Amino acid sequence: MFIDEKKCIGCAKCIPYCPLQAHYFTRTEDGRLVVAIDQEKCAECGVCFRMADCYYNAIYQVEQEYPRDIRALLSDPLIEFAGSNVPGRGTAEIKTNEITGRVKWGRAGLALEMGRPGIGVKWSDVDKMTTSLAKKGVEFVDENPVTFFMKDKKTGELPDELKEVRSISAIIEFDCDFDELPVILETIKETAKELDTVFSFPAGVKLLPGGKVPEEFVRIVEDAGFTLSINSKNNMGLGRPRFREEGE
Ligand code: SF4
Ligand code: SF4
Repeated sequence: MFIDEKKCIGCAKCIPYCPLQAHYFTRTEDGRLVVAIDQEKCAECGVCFRMADCYYNAIYQVEQEYPRDIRALLSDPLIEFAGSNVPGRGTAEIKTNEITGRVKWGRAGLALEMGRPGIGVKWSDVDKMTTSLAKKGVEFVDENPVTFFMKDKKTGELPDELKEVRSISAIIEFDCDFDELPVILETIKETAKELDTVFSFPAGVKLLPGGKVPEEFVRIVEDAGFTLSINSKNNMGLGRPRFREEGE
């Protein structure tokens, strides 16, 4: 995203809209105070362009080429990723599990959301996490944008040119058996020490009859030092046609 310094009057109206504080004041050669955008910080989310309603039409977009265009793909909530058919940075994941049956009994569906508005994430950090997880045999979800850009799903490595990309966040998605969880959770904790961002860690499981969370899952997560949030997204089982596992 850019600001045309010839049109900008430096009113600062656009500044609060940026989730990454990429706008800054500067002076033109003839001494006028204007606002500009730090291109390294900007994740091309489009919010200032769409929402600030600049009276002087000073904010403008240019067509981006790879790898710069990946910033918008992962940061602009209005862009739909062709592989997942949903806008945003991940897949429809657990919200559609009753139909897709992606997460089965005894397995956990995990999503690491790296970066948040205000901080963002550099993809060199995403690469650190994906390569660490791949070494533990994690199988990444195919439809996910981060998986799509991996050089090799088995190593989890991202292309060098993408390691310089910054986005608002990036979601890494995978499933695993409960007995694989301790090693995976330990890997996440160790890798987190090397990261220059924050992450949240949603985990989805099929509930037992009566709606109880499997005790084994709770024990493993808590033994690893994580605290399960009381907030959750509950799938009500109303989707049709319902996916049924063998024996259901
Ligand atoms: S809203 Fe427009 S005129 Fe005001 S600082 Fe931003 S770009 Fe410049
Ligand atoms: S496009 Fe988004 S990240 Fe870039 S300057 Fe505008 S609000 Fe900030």
